[in-house]
Amino acid sequence: MLREICKRRYGRELRDCSNQEIYYALLEMTKELSKKRESNEGKKKLYYISAEFLIGKLLSNNLINLGVFEEVKKVLEENGKSLYEIEELEPEPSLGNGGLGRLAACFLDSIAALGLNGDGVGLNYHLGLFKQEFEKNSQKEVSNPWIENENWLVKTDKTYDIYFGERKVVSRMYDIDVPGYENRTNKLHLFDIESVDESIVRPDSIDFDKKNIEKNLTLFLYPDDGDEDGRLLRIYQQYFMVSNAAQLILDEARAKGSNLHDLYDYAVIQINDTHPTMVIPELIRLLNKEGILLDEAVEIVAKTCAYTNHTILAEALEKWPIYYLERVVPQLLPIIRLLDKKVKDKYHDEAVDIIDKNNLVHMAHIDIHYGTSVNGVAYLHTEILKNTELNRFYQLYPNKFNNKTNGITFRRWLLHCNEELTSLIESCIGDGFKKDADKLEELLKFQNDTEVLKKLLDVKKAKKHQLAEFLKETQNITIDENAILDVQVKRLHEYKRQQMNALYVIYKYLDIKKGNKPTTPITVLFGAKAAPAYTIAKDIIHLILCLEELINNDPEVSPYLKVVMVENYNVSKAAKIIPACDISEQISLASKEASGTSNMKFMLNGAVTLGTMDGANVEIADLVGKENIYTFGESSEAVIEHYAKADYDSTKYYAEDDEIKELVDFMLKKEVLKLGDTRKLLDLHKEIAGKDWFMALLDLKDYIRVKEIALKEYEDRQAWAKKMLVNIAKAGFFSSDRTIAQYNEDIWHLA
Ligand SMILES: *Cc1c(COP(=O)(O)O)cnc(C)c1O
Repeated sequence: MLREICKRRYGRELRDCSNQEIYYALLEMTKELSKKRESNEGKKKLYYISAEFLIGKLLSNNLINLGVFEEVKKVLEENGKSLYEIEELEPEPSLGNGGLGRLAACFLDSIAALGLNGDGVGLNYHLGLFKQEFEKNSQKEVSNPWIENENWLVKTDKTYDIYFGERKVVSRMYDIDVPGYENRTNKLHLFDIESVDESIVRPDSIDFDKKNIEKNLTLFLYPDDGDEDGRLLRIYQQYFMVSNAAQLILDEARAKGSNLHDLYDYAVIQINDTHPTMVIPELIRLLNKEGILLDEAVEIVAKTCAYTNHTILAEALEKWPIYYLERVVPQLLPIIRLLDKKVKDKYHDEAVDIIDKNNLVHMAHIDIHYGTSVNGVAYLHTEILKNTELNRFYQLYPNKFNNKTNGITFRRWLLHCNEELTSLIESCIGDGFKKDADKLEELLKFQNDTEVLKKLLDVKKAKKHQLAEFLKETQNITIDENAILDVQVKRLHEYKRQQMNALYVIYKYLDIKKGNKPTTPITVLFGAKAAPAYTIAKDIIHLILCLEELINNDPEVSPYLKVVMVENYNVSKAAKIIPACDISEQISLASKEASGTSNMKFMLNGAVTLGTMDGANVEIADLVGKENIYTFGESSEAVIEHYAKADYDSTKYYAEDDEIKELVDFMLKKEVLKLGDTRKLLDLHKEIAGKDWFMALLDLKDYIRVKEIALKEYEDRQAWAKKMLVNIAKAGFFSSDRTIAQYNEDIWHLA
């Protein structure tokens, strides 16, 4: 088929086409194959609405899901081409920020793989979040255009009128196919407007005129909300997303025979975090326009919607000033006031109000009152929601609360990113695990099989070699393939505590300087984007880049310790880094990481977790047992108590412990200041020594202690390989197929 497409498009044989031409031919072929599996089956449909879908590159995954990956790879090889080289040409969209967006992408994959009737709905951001570049040891943001002339988007003829008060824009729906693994093809619907103008972005930056909605509406994900125009733009985007979603949902329900009074028999809406919350008042408004009385419309919509909470960080629970909503979407105000009045009349409790006394609209409160389900994303997270953060709501609606521990798609995070490991597993237990992830447990039989353990170590070595080549090519960084690879890749946030890992790096540097040379060299690899307006996060990147320059150029230390910060961490880089990793850093302050999903990807690829008892780490520890994970730090209960009592004082840890003081003060030593920006390093020093809101100094010593134990135990390779094997064998629980089956069983009830 591929040969014919090349002939038709270019009038040439496959072997005479360029990689770029073959990539476009493969795009066409994949779309055709996906189309054959489209299905209109299923009365009820799930709409997964999300501001983010961090889909990554799609070519190989779609080929895997369509069952033609091996065949295509072979045909290309026979013609002197490499699928891996062709794949490098695919641009990666940054339609997400981190875990939440990647979760949405994994979910779409699993929904289709399970043959469920469910589509994603979001926005077609032309320039994504941003692309990260390093300049003078600092992060710089530039736009990340990804839509080439030929791409995954399929332009549909669906258009809607969207009103912002009197102002009207016309939307258009674009679709990306989501072919399920040996199953039906679903869709990711991305809405856009035709008048978007990428040329209004100032060159070499992400700055643009925030007032010009007709030109900027779908340029960027999460435009800077540091000023009022930026915040208003976010509301424009959110309403644009949900008004399109609501109109699509009503169209499709009617087409299937709904009279709209029974909408919940035709549609279920999963609200991914609070960004899509306005779908609730918007649907109520539209039903009312169709002649349904308001009270009934409220009930219908409340039976149709479900909400997923992703964080307990107060800053992330959206609260919009009511006058912002009034300015952007005046038509929703009567509905929001009605929803608020019903709550106030019924409960007389300010803590659960929708509109508070400062005239802020609490978006999560709308979701909780007017939906069937509220779920957290890991056992611990859901318990904290019920017992602490959302306790008042839990008392009102105990039956709405439920847990859905996150998961990852094994097609991408094992079959695609680690073919070598996939083959090894297959040679041990057959290929049943590809459809049923729990079958990975059969690997436990091989715990003491020295042959298998050796092969496992060989796979890890091969993946390190591939990563080393990639880093050399892309960033001109040399890493030692024989070193222990210690990895922390995730968004940069103080609660994730990259700063604590940086302090460990300083500890190790000074220890090596003292003459304590590690038996096996260590590479500490970071990858993280910081939000453009998050100064402390950017200062932490700055520190890491300065340490990288200092340490890698110190001939006394660099044979034993290397620091690497990967530029522009994204899904395809994750797929290269994770299979090579030995130690998975999951070191968030306990109670702050809702779940984490990279912890699951690492485990599945045979890395051992070094982590706090936070998020899904708790469940990982439970599954693998304490011999197969390294945990440290204060418990979530203790941390929650520190916050409640406001009794954590970082100045004490800093001033009263000479060892800690030495590590923190190192960032102000002249050899570091020489490489960096004094103001940034001073700010960071002040932040950590004087405030340390996420308590890095609280856990620092225990972290160093346990990390040293992990490094020491790595020296017994056989014992380490056994830990790797147990981690892989127990990872089945974290398949997003399991998560999605649970959403369907408990919330969606799709046939
Ligand atoms: C999985 C993934 C994440 C989430 O990482 P966490 O460590 O769970 O926060 C973020 N970014 C990318 C590119 C990912 O693939």
